[in-house]
Amino acid sequence: MAKKSSGKAGKHVYFFGKGKAEGNRTMKDVLGGKGSGLAEMTNAGLPVPPGFTIATSVCTLYYKNKGKIPPAVEKEMLTHLKRLEATAKAQLGAAKNPLLVSVRSGAKFSMPGMMDTILNLGLNDVSVEGLKARTANGRFSFDSYRRFIQMYGSVVLEIPKADFEHIFEDVKKTKNAKLDTDLDEAALRDVVTRYKKLVKDKTKKDFPQDPLAQLRGARDAVFRSWQNPRAKEYRRIYDIPDHIGTAVNVQAMVFGNTGDRSGTGVGFTRNPATGAKEFFGEFLINAQGEDVVAGIRTPKPILELESVMPHAYKQLRQITTRLEKHYKDIQDFEFTIQEDELFMLQTRSGKRTGYAAVIIATDMVAEKLVTPKDALLMVEPESLSQLLSPIFDPKDWKALPVASKGLPASPGAASGQIVFTADDAVEWTRQGKQAMLVRKETVPDDIHGMFVAQGILTATGGMTSHAAVVGRQMGKPSIVGAGSLEIDERGKTLKIAGKTMREGEWLSFDGLSGEVKIGQVATKPSEILQVINGEMKPGNSDIYQRFERLLSWADKYRKLGIRANADQPDQAKIAYNFGARGIGLCRTEHMFFGEGRIPIVQKMILADNEADRRAALNELLPLQRSDFYGVFKEMNGSPVTIRTIDPPLHEFLPKREDLMVQQATMEATGKTGSPEYAETKKLLHRVEQLHEFNPMLGHRGVRLGISYPEITEMQTRAIIEAACQLAKEGKKVLPEIMIPLVGEVRELTDQKAVVVRVADAVMKERGIKVAYLVGTMIEVPRGALTAGEIAKEADFFSFGTNDLTQLTYGFSRDDIGKFLGAYQDRKILQKDPFASLDTTGVGQLVAMGTERGRATKATLKVGVCGEHGGDPSSIHFFDKVGLNYVSCSPYRVPVARLAAAQAALQQSALS
Ligand code: PEP
Ligand code: MG
Repeated sequence: MAKKSSGKAGKHVYFFGKGKAEGNRTMKDVLGGKGSGLAEMTNAGLPVPPGFTIATSVCTLYYKNKGKIPPAVEKEMLTHLKRLEATAKAQLGAAKNPLLVSVRSGAKFSMPGMMDTILNLGLNDVSVEGLKARTANGRFSFDSYRRFIQMYGSVVLEIPKADFEHIFEDVKKTKNAKLDTDLDEAALRDVVTRYKKLVKDKTKKDFPQDPLAQLRGARDAVFRSWQNPRAKEYRRIYDIPDHIGTAVNVQAMVFGNTGDRSGTGVGFTRNPATGAKEFFGEFLINAQGEDVVAGIRTPKPILELESVMPHAYKQLRQITTRLEKHYKDIQDFEFTIQEDELFMLQTRSGKRTGYAAVIIATDMVAEKLVTPKDALLMVEPESLSQLLSPIFDPKDWKALPVASKGLPASPGAASGQIVFTADDAVEWTRQGKQAMLVRKETVPDDIHGMFVAQGILTATGGMTSHAAVVGRQMGKPSIVGAGSLEIDERGKTLKIAGKTMREGEWLSFDGLSGEVKIGQVATKPSEILQVINGEMKPGNSDIYQRFERLLSWADKYRKLGIRANADQPDQAKIAYNFGARGIGLCRTEHMFFGEGRIPIVQKMILADNEADRRAALNELLPLQRSDFYGVFKEMNGSPVTIRTIDPPLHEFLPKREDLMVQQATMEATGKTGSPEYAETKKLLHRVEQLHEFNPMLGHRGVRLGISYPEITEMQTRAIIEAACQLAKEGKKVLPEIMIPLVGEVRELTDQKAVVVRVADAVMKERGIKVAYLVGTMIEVPRGALTAGEIAKEADFFSFGTNDLTQLTYGFSRDDIGKFLGAYQDRKILQKDPFASLDTTGVGQLVAMGTERGRATKATLKVGVCGEHGGDPSSIHFFDKVGLNYVSCSPYRVPVARLAAAQAALQQSALS
C-alpha cells in the first residue's frame, strides 16, 4: 500500500499542468479522489488540461467561518489562477482568447453525481465573442455560454432548472428544432438573452460578468453542495464521514462540443457490472460531459469510437491500459476529444458490483498484475453478500415472454411491484412490500428510493448514467435505457409490450441479460449457495471457484479465527461449507422452539416442584442430545461453543394479554368447567408470576441456572453424552460449555461446579473421556471490569457485544429503533451501535476485559459472538485488540473471512 501524504502545512491550493503537479495519488485526503488522480496523471505525462485543486481543508474552513474563505486562501487561489493563465496562455474572461474553466467537486470518496459542477466558467458578454473569434465557431461559443448561464443559474443562484429548460424548449419549438444541436448561433444568442433576463427577474441582479466573482460563486456553491440532502443521504448509506469535506478542482476547459470532430465520454478498463476484461464505456459526439452522465441522450458504445476517430481511440486505449497497470485496479475514466485531440479529465478506481469485484480481483492475479495480497484489498467484504442473493428459477423465467430489453447495468434477479417515485419506493417498502423502482431516468435525489427498491429500471440513459453507476455500487439489480418503455411518472403508468401497467403490478427483470418480463417470478439460491448446499458441484461454477480462491487467500493472511453462530446441524453445515471452523455460539434455547418441543418446555416451566421439572427436563434431554450430536458432527472436530439457557422463561409461554382474552372468552361462553379453562388459568397464573418489569435485566442467563441447576445439569448431560457418542464412533469433538451473563465470578464458580460434576458423571457412565472447556460470556460491564477474577474460573471468554452494548449505553437493544433515527439526524450517533461496535466506549470494555483476563491466564481463548462479529469495521477492531476469533451468522462467514484478512494486512502495513 502506498503511504498517505497529508500535504504541506499551510498550503491550501495545489497546481497541476505541463507534466508536473504539486500533488500525487497518495493525497486523496487533501485533494480528494479527482484532484489526486489529476495530479498523478499529469505527473505521468498524460494529456491533462492544466488547473489547480483547492484542498478539502478549505471546505472545512468554509463551514467553520460561516461561508467565508480566509483572505490568505483567497490570495493563494488568485496566485494559482495567474499560474494557470500563464500555462494556458489565456486569461479568464478576456475579450481576446479567453480562458474558460470547469469547477468540479471531488471528495476523498467518490460520490457520483451527488455534488455540483460548473462548466464553461469565465464566459460573459465580452469573452463569448472572444471565444467565437478564437474558434471561428459562433454556434459553439453561444452554446457554451447558454450552458454556463444555465448551470451557474441553477447551482449558484438557485433558480429552478426547469425555468431554464422551459425557455430552451420554447426556442427549440419556434425554430422547429428537434435536437439541441439543430439550433444555430442566432437561436442560441436568443436563448442567452432570455436566460439573462430570467436571472435578472429572479435575482434582481444582472448575471455576473466579473469572472472572479463567477469563480468565487462557483467554488462556494461546490462547498455548499457537500451539505445538500442527497450528498448527506449518500454519506449516510456509505458510511462516509461528514467532516472530511470536498475539494474543488478548477481546470482549463477543453471542448467536446465544437463540432463533429469533438466529443466526450466515460469508460472503464473492464466491465464494472460483470468484471469481464473488455474495454467498456460510451461517448457522445459534439457534447459536453454532463450530457453523457445525465442520462438524457443515450450515448454510443465506446467501441464505435474506433471507426469515428481512430487516432483518438487508439491513444485512449493505450492511456487507459497504462493507467490500469499503474494503479493496479480497474479504472473509471473521463475524456474529451477536442478537434481530434484527446484529453484525460479523470481517472479513479472504478466502482463495481460485488460479482465484478471477485472476477476482476481473481483475473488480475491470474494476469500477474496484482498479488493475492493486493487482490484481497480490492474487494469490499460487504459486497460478497451480493453474490449470495437469489437468482430466477430458470424454468419459471423462461416460461414468460420478454416484454422489453435494456442495458444490463447491474446483475441480479429483481421482482417487485412497480412504483414511479423514490418516495413511493420507500413508503411501499416500509409497508413490507417489494417495490420495483421504474423511472424515465434516475437523478441523484432518488438515492433513498434506489436503496430500498428490489431493482431499478429506467427508460433512458447508458451504462454510465446515474442509475447505472449508483445501482452497480449498491449491488442493486439495474437495467437502464430500456427505450421501448413508455413511462408516465405523473399518471403512474408504464406502457410495455403493448400493455399498460399501473402502480403495484408485478414486473421482473434479469440485470445480467437486460431482459424485462411482466409478472412475478420465483427465485432460487445463487450459484454459490447451490454449491454450499451441495446442489451443484464446485467444478461447475466458475464464480464459486473464484469466490473460494479469493477466500483461501484471505485465510492465509488473517489472524482471527472465524466461527459461526448456529443452533442447528443444517446451519452448522452451511457455516462449515462457507469456511467457518468452529461454532462460536449455539443458543440452546432456540432448540426449545423446535417442533413439538414448546409443550415440554412449558411443562418444565409450569412445574411447581423439582421432581416435575426434572421429569420434563428428562423429556428434553434426548432431543437436545441429538441436536448437539448433529452440530458436533457437522463441525468435524472444530470447537463448538454451547451456551446454557439464556432468555427469561416467560418468552416460552403465551402472551399474558392473549391468555387473559382466552380466559375471559371461556368465562363468557360458559366453559369454565372445561379442562382447557383450568389449563389457561394455570398458565396465566404462572405467566403473572414470571412477569418482570425489565426482563432484559431480569431472571435470565446464569441467574436461571442458579435458580434451577437441574436445567444446567440436563444441558451438560446432553452435551457430554453427545460428545461421548461421537468419541466412541472415533470422531473428534471439542465442546465448550459457556455460561451467559456472568458479572460476578461466584456465579461462574457455582455453575462450573454443576457442569464439572455432571460431565464427570457422564464420562464415567459411558466409560470414555472427552476434552471439554468451561467458559463464560462477557456481556455485563461488571464481567469486563472483573475479568481478571473471572478468568481464574474460565477456560475462555466470549464477548456478547449485543448485551454489552445494551448495558454499557443503557439502550434497549429492542427499542433503540424508536430514537436511533433522531440520534443519527442530530449527529449524536453516526452508526447504530448494535450493528457496528462503539469502539470508543464498548470497545474499551472489550480491550480491557481481554487484557485483564489474559493477565490472569495467558492462554485464555477470547472471541466475540455478538452481531458485531460479522461487521467488517468491528472486525478490524477485534483484530487490533488481539481476539482469537469472531463468530457471526453462517451467511456472513465469507464477509468475516475477507474482513479479517484485510484487518491483518492493514495492521501489518501500519507496523
Ligand atoms: C450477546 O449478547 O452479544 C449475545 C451474543 O447473546 P444474545 O444475543 O443471545 O443475548
Ligand atoms: Mg447476550
